Amino acid sequence: MRIETLSVFPDVFASYLGASMMGRAQTKGLLDFEAYDLRDWTHDRHRTVDDAPFGGGQGMLMKPAPIFEAVRDISARHELRPHVIFFSPVGARFDEAAARRLSHEDRILFVCGRYEGMDERCYDLADETLSIGDYVLTGGELAAMVVTDAVVRLIPGVLGDEMSAEDESFAGGLLEYAQYTRPAVYEGRAVPDVLLSGDHAAVDAWRRRNQIERTALWRPDLLEGADLTPEERAWLAERGD
Ligand code: SAM
Repeated sequence: MRIETLSVFPDVFASYLGASMMGRAQTKGLLDFEAYDLRDWTHDRHRTVDDAPFGGGQGMLMKPAPIFEAVRDISARHELRPHVIFFSPVGARFDEAAARRLSHEDRILFVCGRYEGMDERCYDLADETLSIGDYVLTGGELAAMVVTDAVVRLIPGVLGDEMSAEDESFAGGLLEYAQYTRPAVYEGRAVPDVLLSGDHAAVDAWRRRNQIERTALWRPDLLEGADLTPEERAWLAERGD
């Protein structure tokens, strides 16, 4: 997969994307990442990318010309046109389902805003606009890193263990089960006996129940859309969840 970013702070991506899973994905040739500087598409001495909003108001807006020129130019640099994603608190909420969908793209271009955001006409270039949550960030770079991380770990071969993304929270619409490592008792807190039993079927059954219980406790809103059997739904109803 090729992932590109367009922003006024192209240097902020290097350390995070060079480390750990993301670094390995690039070394293995599974991820090809490039960060572009929006100012390279300006034509004045000050490399200006912002301007005051029509109608007055606080702060500055990113002006359309550099963004239109950059997105068109970058898009044409490779044979395959990128899936263009803009960021805004106004966008659709990014979630694991969106990460799975985007992990099938071959080329993604993230366009990161700054200041008070962008001239509204810029969004005409977007295939989609995403928000990573109901809060306001200073810029879209963190959002691009969040989405990149969530998407890249789903590309086959990126995680060491092919199963690990399938077991995690949100796969099947449930949260992940509780996990423990040694020691079996820590400061009087004991690991559930079944996990020490060596009985794989019993461990699987416990984990499934634990997933459902944790989802009911922490994220009951997920249960309606979760992949549960009629027996599991009956069990939940009996519990009063
Ligand atoms: N004035 C805008 C508003 O109230 O909707 C906020 C602009 S914000 C300060 C600057 C940039 O940060 C945005 O253009 C966007 O790229 C990014 N950003 C801020 N909050 C975000 C969020 N929740 N999700 C994704 N990107 C966000």
